[in-house]
Amino acid sequence: MARTPAEAYSSTVAVQATNDDAAASKLSCVKKGYMKDEYVHFFVRRPVRRSPIINRGYFARWAVLRKLLLQFLEPKDDSSERNVMKKQILSLGAGFDTTYFQLVEEGIAPHLYVELDFKEVTSKKAALIDHHNQLKDKVGSEAYICKERGEVLSDHYKLLPIDLRDINQLDTMMELAQLDCSLPTFIIAECVLIYLDPDSTCSIVRWASKTFSTAIFFAYEQIHPDDAFGEQMMKNLESRGCPLLGIYATPTLITKEKLFLDQGWQRAVAWDMLRIYNEFIEAQEKRRIERLELFDEFEEWYMMQEHYCVAYAINDAYGLFTDFGFSKI
Ligand code: SAH
Repeated sequence: MARTPAEAYSSTVAVQATNDDAAASKLSCVKKGYMKDEYVHFFVRRPVRRSPIINRGYFARWAVLRKLLLQFLEPKDDSSERNVMKKQILSLGAGFDTTYFQLVEEGIAPHLYVELDFKEVTSKKAALIDHHNQLKDKVGSEAYICKERGEVLSDHYKLLPIDLRDINQLDTMMELAQLDCSLPTFIIAECVLIYLDPDSTCSIVRWASKTFSTAIFFAYEQIHPDDAFGEQMMKNLESRGCPLLGIYATPTLITKEKLFLDQGWQRAVAWDMLRIYNEFIEAQEKRRIERLELFDEFEEWYMMQEHYCVAYAINDAYGLFTDFGFSKI
């Protein structure tokens, strides 16, 4: 396949480095009191202080995922299966994300949590889990941890190496991870698919739809590469060696929704982060975090938030997710 000029400059190392960036930014938020996360500091070698606008952006990213995850995890009041329905979370390009550890601490972890990333990243994560008892305790004492293979396998948590662009590896992974296609599954793709070529993204989205009949697919990523802010965003990422290869295939909210619908998902909704911040994130939480730091970059904040979005898609074979999503405020 012919490579676009941008693709030629996409470096795996640079894409993996975006994970270090994310972890450092999350730690910056935690230190300022935006959110609680007692685990992220284990994954950051050199802590940095981010600007208020970056902190607020990461808070919003964390809060929207957390709110949708809680909707998925909370037991249905009218269900006779209250509290017993097994659920799964599958995180694609999970990097050093610590959601699993937080959910265990909060006593709401699902039956199975699976994290996938390049082997270079999962090896480092496995080594850190092995090294820090606070992390190791959370994966369980029976866990098999192999740094060389980049694997952690325990009853309720699996960390596995994969190149997501190789769709055959996803089927092999299903068996290794012991994911059950029939269980409700929440798939997370936070700043991941946008770095892949559009064909790979389509294949992953189609694979997920065919594999899971009761599932939510959550994607958080950039949109609008073509205005002045978008062009600058593209330039910055290209110069770092991690261009957003997928953005021209889905540059708007409507095209994000269409991506999922075209690949077999039953419903899809995409909102930009400005709308999510204004209409979905808890008012009380916003009041709390808006007091944490002096903030006067409003124009920049609006523009930035309009260039990120959350798209979620739903397959709902049994009507479990009729009231899931942004409308449930
Ligand atoms: N989801 C995490 C990390 C985001 S950084 C978070 O939001 O904090 C993007 C991650 O995607 C990196 O860890 C990178 O290694 C991973 N990634 C990108 N392309 C990938 C691919 N083809 N296969 C597996 N992982 C990939």
